[in-house]
Amino acid sequence: MSSGEFDVPYKSPVVPNKLGNDDKIKFNCYKGISCFNACCKQADITLTPYDIVRLKTRLGITSGEFIKNHTVPFEMDGHSTPGIKLRTEDEQPVCLFLDGDNGCGVYEDRPSACRYYPMGLMSMLNAQTRNDEQHYFIVEESHCNGHKEDREITVADYRKEQKVEDYDELNRDWYRLILKKRSGGPAIGKPSPMSFQLFFMCSYDVDRFREFFNSKNFRTVYAIDDETYALLNKDDVELMKFGFRLMHQVLFGENTIDMVDGAYEERMSERGPILAARREMEIEAAKEKDAIDKYIDD
Ligand code: SF4
Ligand code: SF4
Repeated sequence: MSSGEFDVPYKSPVVPNKLGNDDKIKFNCYKGISCFNACCKQADITLTPYDIVRLKTRLGITSGEFIKNHTVPFEMDGHSTPGIKLRTEDEQPVCLFLDGDNGCGVYEDRPSACRYYPMGLMSMLNAQTRNDEQHYFIVEESHCNGHKEDREITVADYRKEQKVEDYDELNRDWYRLILKKRSGGPAIGKPSPMSFQLFFMCSYDVDRFREFFNSKNFRTVYAIDDETYALLNKDDVELMKFGFRLMHQVLFGENTIDMVDGAYEERMSERGPILAARREMEIEAAKEKDAIDKYIDD
């Protein structure tokens, strides 16, 4: 996969055709099909931020409890970007939400990857316009008999049928963030641990983000009016979207959140020496790595 692409992941075998909304797939899935639930017994489900908000709301627990009890961490790329997957049984990849022969126990709030299956979403940067574009691909796995069914359906209609359009729309700024990170790559060395912590909290742990949002530290830096505070304190989805904006601002300098006058300068004067020292260390580490690579090459 070339850089600049982002997939809502599935395991191979991926059919290497890039599909658009008007393309047709031949597939059907229904209760009673011979392979019913087979996919949930081979679960490898990467979660998006909106998936977590939906599931933790359904279960009536905090995002922290959800992460602890229902997910496992993984690295999304070669640069330690944290991702999380749905937890399965320890001995076999059976999804913990599978409710025996009844099927998915959280069906109305199932994750985006489950809705798309047997398709996958691929968000890409258009090389000319630099805008993000969505494409799709199909996955054919031997356990899934849905491909043998006669029904033809366009990708657009399948997305509508599976009610995945809202998920895509709400997650879109998060996908953009990951695309940006992948296409830019780290300038020198890896992004700092603090950027990963911010990424993890804003992406997956909305309740912890709310604590940070209400903290004195946050309020002294960002100028948020009372109405916005009230809204974000009661609405997880709005807070999640705000978290995406904050990440775009902090990690990529796309400023959409007002800052308190002078807060940036004050923060930089406090953190300036720390950032300079860190940069110095990163440059030294990069030089050292170059020297080692050169030594190995010679
Ligand atoms: S969340 Fe539901 S649909 Fe998705 S793998 Fe688990 S049981 Fe299957
Ligand atoms: S047809 Fe495919 S998606 Fe549907 S239950 Fe069977 S294995 Fe799962």
